Amino acid sequence: MNFTSNQKVFINSLLDQLNFNQILKSNTDKFMMEYFNQLLKSYKKFKDLANCEYLMILYNNVERVIPKNAILSIIYKDNGEFFEAESFSIFDYLKLEIMIKKNELYDIIETNSIYISASDIANFTYCPVSFAISRSIKYKTLASAKIGLELHETSFINSMIFNKSKKEQVNSIEKIYYDESFKTLSDILKNCDILYSGHSPNDKVKYFKSSRGNFIGQPDFILRDRTTNKIFVIEEKYHYIPKQFINYRNTEYYGDVHKKNRNEREKQIGYDNHINQLLSYVYGIADYEIDYGILIYWKYEIEENKRNITKCSFKIFYKNEEHQINLNKIYLKIKSFLRNKNLEFDINIRNPKKCASCINNILCGHKTGNFNDISLPYNSKYLKVNKGSFLESFEKDEKNYIEKLFEYTIPEA
Ligand code: SF4
Repeated sequence: MNFTSNQKVFINSLLDQLNFNQILKSNTDKFMMEYFNQLLKSYKKFKDLANCEYLMILYNNVERVIPKNAILSIIYKDNGEFFEAESFSIFDYLKLEIMIKKNELYDIIETNSIYISASDIANFTYCPVSFAISRSIKYKTLASAKIGLELHETSFINSMIFNKSKKEQVNSIEKIYYDESFKTLSDILKNCDILYSGHSPNDKVKYFKSSRGNFIGQPDFILRDRTTNKIFVIEEKYHYIPKQFINYRNTEYYGDVHKKNRNEREKQIGYDNHINQLLSYVYGIADYEIDYGILIYWKYEIEENKRNITKCSFKIFYKNEEHQINLNKIYLKIKSFLRNKNLEFDINIRNPKKCASCINNILCGHKTGNFNDISLPYNSKYLKVNKGSFLESFEKDEKNYIEKLFEYTIPEA
């Protein structure tokens, strides 16, 4: 994306307030340059964070409803439940991060829980800072997390296990029925019984514990294979893929686009945080003798704002010494962090792509590389922002702000 010189000045001022070096002025900080480039690709997935609750005000002696904590450059639509951000730019994302941190708009999570959950293990594997944030503060639910919840409701596992007829499957599963991975997975699951389903209303409330009771977890499924009598867990994740590329002109250019699209769609996925989450169930659940775990990625496309799962990829993880040692290491590190409330942070482990996609990005101060330790709970010193000309505009008189809000962001009622 190309920016005008005025836009560059503005971006630098926003990044400066977030305690970043001014990355667009010099190429000295490679991490920051790469982080910003990655953020340009990923910021749109954070759009839901800009949605606003209703706030009732008196405006010219008339009661009006306005978006609470709005960003003036965003256009909002009242969707009947809240104000939905219709527009969202990289500038808005950076402004939102400043506003949340400056006005402490996050909620504090009060927990002294001694339990280490499967989600803790996944978060810690992704980044220890993300773990500390998840245990300390929270902002709104991300669109990607909501997509997961929404798609979870349509889990295919039940229909695969109960081996529905082809016609029933085609009706309910449509395109995915023709996916090779899906067929292989169906063959594995058709001989299985469900021992536990995180999707069932009765099981949803149940948490499994380890034999010593320090680990808690709730997998998506625990199944028994009737042919081998082995018991295994399933963890389901959701992954966006581009729609199938259809081209009738066989030019070199389209060849490349087609290849990229096909690679994206066919890619075998397996992220370390998801793998460790799955393995924590395999090793941690004491109620059953679990033999292995299957990590499934349901791949969805978006058509007319509807998410359709059209492909899948899966991998089986058997118990082995290496898995156990790795998992133990993470478990012990978390335990020690919970006990000492402090952990060293090596700024060199930061990964620009990871940071730009991180669910706790907007609350994180460590991505700047300014801190060498992490405290638990996540200390407010990490969330400090610099005062800049933009921040001063937050400290506007309320009347001016409300007038601008009506002028720019919300259509007349
Ligand atoms: S933004 Fe980066 S440093 Fe911060 S929690 Fe996420 S991955 Fe870790």
